[in-house]
Amino acid sequence: MSAHRQHIDVLMYHSISDAGGPTSMPAPVFAAQMKALAETGYHIANLTDLVAWREGQLKLPEKTAIITFDDGFLDFRDAAWPVLERLGFSAIVFLPTDCLGENESWEGANSPPRALMSWGDVSALSKNGAQFGSHSLTHANLTLLDRETLNTQLSQSRSRLEDALGEAVTTFAAPYGAVNETVRSAIADHYAIAAGTQLGRTDDSVDVFDVPRLEMHYFRDIALWRKYLEGKADRYLAVRKFARNIRQVFR
Ligand SMILES: [Zn+2]
Repeated sequence: MSAHRQHIDVLMYHSISDAGGPTSMPAPVFAAQMKALAETGYHIANLTDLVAWREGQLKLPEKTAIITFDDGFLDFRDAAWPVLERLGFSAIVFLPTDCLGENESWEGANSPPRALMSWGDVSALSKNGAQFGSHSLTHANLTLLDRETLNTQLSQSRSRLEDALGEAVTTFAAPYGAVNETVRSAIADHYAIAAGTQLGRTDDSVDVFDVPRLEMHYFRDIALWRKYLEGKADRYLAVRKFARNIRQVFR
């Protein structure tokens, strides 16, 4: 075992807009966060690279990040993708496949609701290099479902995506990050890797079916984000993690 353990940062975004709340990131802040990644020399990998990397079959540059978006909001097409494309970055978007072309309407949705991309948007972006994974059929809390419904949510969302994209889909993100042992093992039956909502960095001991991510809401301060990327703000993440765990205990 080497003394140095490589860390990979998996960034989590939802909407790039002024819609408000922790899941909406203003476009100028997003652009500045991406610019900082580029200027500090980060390599942007695919989520699927993590599996091979964890097995030691793939080397990734010391500074590697993965960019993810949950929910498939229309502003990914209009506000996020142009910025990513300009910098030569890719990203993966997790889609609740039954909801495309509509507004968000699941529990916890913003008011007023934000619009989601259509299948036409998804297919055009895919041809341009964006990646897509499943976020279930209906943005359901998977821990509340019986086994059969759970499997339907996992398998049908995957096949709808595969039909639309014409390629294999192996990535998943559980709505609300809600998983338990049953859900985790069902995800593992259908997918190769799944992003979670636990706050943290990824190392080679990562559970590939609940990969921790960086909630980018915590890095709206660009000076702080740059410091973090330069390895000078690890304490900040530890403090956020502590505060987040406390919140989850008392929710
Ligand atoms: Zn979601």
